[in-house]
Amino acid sequence: MEKLQNYIGGKLIPPHSGEYFNNYEPAKGAVYSLIPDSDENDIDAAVIAAKKAFPEWSVMPKQKRSNLLLKLADFILKNADQIAKEESIDNGKPLKLAKQVDIPRAESNIRFFATAILHFESESHSMENTAINYTLREPIGIVGAISPWNLPLYLFTWKIAPALAAGNCVVAKPSEITPFTAYTLSKLCIEAGIPEGVLNIVHGHGKKVGEAISKHPEIKVISFTGGTETGARIASIAAPMFKKLSLELGGKNANIIFDDCDFDEMIKVTIRSSFANQGQICLCGSRILIQRGLYKKFKEEFVKQTRKLTVGNPLLESTKIGAVVSEAHMNKILSYIDIAKSEGGKIIVGGNRVYLNGENMEGWFVEPTIIEGLDNTCRTNQEEIFGPVVTLQPFDTEEEAIAIANGTQYGLSSTVWTNDVKRTHNIAQKLHAGIVWINCWLVRDLRTPFGGTKNSGVGREGGFEALRFFTEAKNVCIQL
Ligand code: NDP
Repeated sequence: MEKLQNYIGGKLIPPHSGEYFNNYEPAKGAVYSLIPDSDENDIDAAVIAAKKAFPEWSVMPKQKRSNLLLKLADFILKNADQIAKEESIDNGKPLKLAKQVDIPRAESNIRFFATAILHFESESHSMENTAINYTLREPIGIVGAISPWNLPLYLFTWKIAPALAAGNCVVAKPSEITPFTAYTLSKLCIEAGIPEGVLNIVHGHGKKVGEAISKHPEIKVISFTGGTETGARIASIAAPMFKKLSLELGGKNANIIFDDCDFDEMIKVTIRSSFANQGQICLCGSRILIQRGLYKKFKEEFVKQTRKLTVGNPLLESTKIGAVVSEAHMNKILSYIDIAKSEGGKIIVGGNRVYLNGENMEGWFVEPTIIEGLDNTCRTNQEEIFGPVVTLQPFDTEEEAIAIANGTQYGLSSTVWTNDVKRTHNIAQKLHAGIVWINCWLVRDLRTPFGGTKNSGVGREGGFEALRFFTEAKNVCIQL
């Protein structure tokens, strides 16, 4: 059975403890590789390696840094099919999705920031005849990057690429649940000639390795994506140490459908925004709000299309819904379906675990599930389920839709379907969300700010926002 290794100081090495734990293939419910059970000793070693690499990496001409990162992106492209298969096996997501979305995006994350750094400018402020100010934006030092399991390589590279491009060295921890493609990336870094210690990848449990990153005094910046509770825990450790923090957390996003929308396009995209990646995307619209006049028609067609989604072996071309990521997560999703029932919700499609045949007999599959009859205050509509489960709620007016959409602790994203231009601008202003999609979903331009408000996070990733986050601004004022 393959033993994954940590990547520290440019080498693949076993964990300090010498211990490993199981890595499961969700579609089979079986162990297929072993993960290093790292601890604070491995983080210490990674920090030492990063510290050693920083003086050279941080002053390396940007063009040279960029070329090295572009070479890494080339290696991802060259191995894309293999990496997509690894991602599908490790996470349970359909191979088709990994091929079309996850791996191309991982590659373009690196390519994007490798070139963005070449165009990253800082400001100059002239005080007429008195003085001139210019701002230096310098790499900070050692960045800690902690990423989740839902889009493993996609979100891992989304953090490390801007941090590295800006001249920092990185100590990164992928989710213990989906470590495989980060391990592959470490091998590609060696092939691409990324200098030793510039990127270090330490595998293991969040409570050990993640906490060691949060606590390490020499890690000055933490970029985290994951659950809101974990984000709060990290902030409670890092904030008193005055670390710079970016937190991308959970969501309970509203998909607001007005009766003047383009119906066919809306249905097509709503199927994706509800169930893509088994609903395990922080941006999925799990609360579907439908204007009352359209409710019946929407429900009929949405139910019909949802029933067509094939739950199956993620490696098959025909599969639309793969496995959810772990047994514990499957049980969490199923427990929320029970909560919905106990709250008076009516399950109109799905609601059960799916048992497949053959090698997928023990796999962790859940039916795409639609629930109606619940108001916005119940747990089902307030807590993040993070699975293939959506609720339907009718509304009458624009004001009511906005109030329901804003009525949660979260504020990550919203989708709005309407052809009324005035309404588009009004509602976009009033929604409490970091991202508003109008007549589309998950259309991403990597230059745009990405992140949430309220309990969905602090700070913005993406474009120059990310490069600003991963640099320290220093103003120089020269008297004339
Ligand atoms: P978790 O918060 O459980 O874990 C995220 C990462 O943090 C993992 O690498 C985890 O390690 C690590 N971790 C766990 N405990 C600690 C700790 N005490 N200190 C430091 N690190 C720790 O989230 P999930 O992996 O379950 O991801 C799902 C969540 O991520 C959802 O809430 C989702 O909404 C959110 N998310 C947000 C996005 C956004 O952009 N806003 C995008 C994608 C997901 P380990 O896995 O080893 O426990």
